[in-house]
Amino acid sequence: MSEVKAYGAQASDANLKELNIERRQITADDVQIEIEYCGVCHSDIHQVRNDWKNSKYPVVPGHEIIGRVTQVGKNVSNFKEGDLVGVGCMVDSCQECDSCKEDLEQFCEKGATLTYNSKDKHLGGHTFGGYSEQIVVDKEFVLSIPENIDAKATAPLLCAGITTYSPLRHWNVKKGDKVGVIGLGGLGHMGVKFASALGAHVVMITTSPSKSEDAKKLGADEVLVSKNEEDMKKQAGSFDFLLNTVPVGHDMNPYIALLKRDATMVLVGAIEPLDPVHGGGLIGGRKRIAGSVIGGIKETQEMLDFCGENNIVSDIEMIDIHNINEAFDRVVKSDVKYRFVIDMKSLKNKN
Ligand code: NAP
Ligand code: ZN
Repeated sequence: MSEVKAYGAQASDANLKELNIERRQITADDVQIEIEYCGVCHSDIHQVRNDWKNSKYPVVPGHEIIGRVTQVGKNVSNFKEGDLVGVGCMVDSCQECDSCKEDLEQFCEKGATLTYNSKDKHLGGHTFGGYSEQIVVDKEFVLSIPENIDAKATAPLLCAGITTYSPLRHWNVKKGDKVGVIGLGGLGHMGVKFASALGAHVVMITTSPSKSEDAKKLGADEVLVSKNEEDMKKQAGSFDFLLNTVPVGHDMNPYIALLKRDATMVLVGAIEPLDPVHGGGLIGGRKRIAGSVIGGIKETQEMLDFCGENNIVSDIEMIDIHNINEAFDRVVKSDVKYRFVIDMKSLKNKN
């Protein structure tokens, strides 16, 4: 085992501070990675603040990890020292159940090992994420990062990217479809970029009129301010697909009204109770509400390769690790353009 520096919270109401964590020595199947960048996902905040009532402390968040390989085990043939790699929300799964065999490790029937706040099969205790100097990960959960795109701006692809790419592909969003992306934050801005790259007519649905210009620069064809009831009525019954990234429980009825007959709204944001849905809104148009969680490793690599080929990266604001508490507060206030990424050198350089 080796001790490495990290940043984490000791309680739901505590700020994140520097602490030391243990990383295992590599096994034959492992890849050791020196972390260069880590994105700040809203889920990191939910976990630190125990919003989902399952946090284990200390919480060391971070599941949008980019780094360089420093060492590999003897069974590892697809990565070598110096490679630029990524790690997303999962670091292990059973690899045997139907879901794992279908490359859908996120639905592992035994429960995937999440990058942080999951049971650690090797060391006991729980896993620690990417707000740290180094991580050791099973080779099956390490992603190759295209070298032609800006490494720090690829970090958010590991969660925000795959979480939006996967439902757009699963529900077969295609050229000409009218797609609404609800919420312009980390996930939403990637949803706009991917839907636009797939040829859809993209409408950014936002509570923040001030984000309109940015939404268009990101690839939205139109902006719809959800607080404006008149404008919402004008677009009723016109959407082929909605991707809902709102991070908290909310009233979905106004969004359901936007769907065409037989169309689907996919929830990826609110992992908590939602306001009651009026059955008539669904029954009237044979509409569907569905959910989606990240994506499997094979699809995550496909998404990264798609980004390499199409020059897609996230719009980011770089921060040092000692600004993380302020960054959390800004994300909660929807004040980030559009993902914070931590320069992990700032942890190494601190005494
Ligand atoms: P984020 O950067 O905070 O973006 C969320 C956006 O939603 C905000 O910028 C805001 O956009 C809008 N919003 C916020 N509060 C709202 C409210 N009360 N009503 C309507 N809109 C609201 O968060 P994120 O990192 O994109 O993550 C979004 C959610 O997805 C989080 O809950 C996160 O835990 C979850 N998540 C899920 C998965 C998955 O696999 N399913 C993966 C990653 C994250 P506007 O200003 O444009 O309205
Ligand atoms: Zn995330």
